[in-house]
Amino acid sequence: MSSLVAVHELRNLVGGELVDAVDGATREILNPANGDVIGRVPEGTEADVERAMAAARNARIGWRDTTPAQRQEALLALADAVDRHAGELAALEIANVGKPRSLADEELPICSDELRFFAGAARVQNAPAAGEYSPTHTSFIRREPVGIVGQIAPWNYPLMMAIWKIAPALATGNVVVLKPSEITPLSTLKLAELAAEIFPPGVLNVITGEGDPVGRGIVTHRDVALVSLTGSVPTGKWIAKAAADSLKRVHLELGGKAPVVVLDDADPAKVAAGLRVASFCNSGQDCTAAARVLATPSIYDALLEALVPAAASLTVGDPAEGDAIEMGPVVSAAQQQRVLGFLDRAVDGGANLLLGGSTGRDGGYFVEPTVVTGVGQDAEIVQQEIFGPVVTVQRVADEDEAIRFANDVPYGLAASIWTRDVGKALNGVRALDFGCVWVNDHLPFLSEMPHGGFKESGYGKDLSTYALDDYTRIKHAMISLD
Ligand code: NAD
Repeated sequence: MSSLVAVHELRNLVGGELVDAVDGATREILNPANGDVIGRVPEGTEADVERAMAAARNARIGWRDTTPAQRQEALLALADAVDRHAGELAALEIANVGKPRSLADEELPICSDELRFFAGAARVQNAPAAGEYSPTHTSFIRREPVGIVGQIAPWNYPLMMAIWKIAPALATGNVVVLKPSEITPLSTLKLAELAAEIFPPGVLNVITGEGDPVGRGIVTHRDVALVSLTGSVPTGKWIAKAAADSLKRVHLELGGKAPVVVLDDADPAKVAAGLRVASFCNSGQDCTAAARVLATPSIYDALLEALVPAAASLTVGDPAEGDAIEMGPVVSAAQQQRVLGFLDRAVDGGANLLLGGSTGRDGGYFVEPTVVTGVGQDAEIVQQEIFGPVVTVQRVADEDEAIRFANDVPYGLAASIWTRDVGKALNGVRALDFGCVWVNDHLPFLSEMPHGGFKESGYGKDLSTYALDDYTRIKHAMISLD
């Protein structure tokens, strides 16, 4: 470890206090661009889960009984705090995830916008109007918080995923116990530090540690009414099964393998420019990344001629080298090995690497931008989420085969279709079995619109007022008029 590297010592937030782990254990956090230790955080156990649940229990009724306007004020204050500390939060995100500065700087205003969206949404929770549906009774609907929400976040966008989770949950009057990923907790713990100044003690608790025991402890805790995970499909399946024992509600935002359907009339240069961002943003560690291109015959060659140089032109390096860096490392040694393993097996199976395929440089956990052809629909590299800077390109017979192949994976999170023909575009929107379908673009999202998948990409929606449904329960009150 270089002695010049600042080591961030951050602590958990429990009951309004910044605390160490109950047993005092810590974990070192690494910078994936060079392996330096950049942080030290508490390493939790089940005792930390118990302590956080006790704090959440104590806070539950008080926060439930706040007005939407009070919750709005708190979320707006957190949004302002995020804006004031944007530089520091971005720096933590860059150092801990290996993101280029341009991406981290782009994310921070989006994070505070999401908090502001849910601050407003706290005041527009719709339910059917109260009414007289019977001559003898009157009825009304209460939309209530579910209680204690257990939330578990992944490592790819640690700050943003924490905000996607806590904002709708807190806006609707729930109290939260959140666990960030054990490898990227720094920005979330900084967010918790800011929240400690704003929310009443116990309303938001953030505890660090591994999936087992801390994540498991949250999922199986008797006091948790709803578990919300953003993570991988295997973790989601495990959580759904574990939650079934106590019939907890489950909200799952899981993996993806987004197809990019490119029809004959698309503009190859425009598609290539789109993929340069959508396939390689955050080193491809994005659940909606443009992972597999399905191109019809007359555009296939032109698309590759545009895509390979576009991907090759990405400036890859340690984000600390400067603002010109467009793509950093992947998040860990394990992730690097996982991505390279997919590539090795694909090449063994006859795939062609038109670009990349290796680490590209010494030191840090890098993988080059990689373009793969010569793969069949059943190939592992087409069927499974890689979560790295890799895009496969398949030649398909026609539009029908493109749609069929696009849908023929276990995932259903996001897809795009590229064509100038409005009828074909709208047909694609209807036929593609994904929670989001872009037309002539791939990747953007909005606070106002829902994000969430079909099939093994999970269920439930983040962002938008649909998220409010997931974090509330509906109660019917019926009153005799006698
Ligand atoms: P992961 O499933 O390994 O871990 C996610 C979180 O779950 C971590 O905090 C981890 O500690 C925790 N966890 C692991 N095992 C657990 C258990 N048994 N009980 C409770 N918690 C447990 O996923 P990851 O590698 O951190 O993240 C990458 C995955 O996240 C990818 O599959 C990606 O597609 C997905 N993701 C999905 C979305 C979306 O919105 N759909 C967004 C971002 C990432």
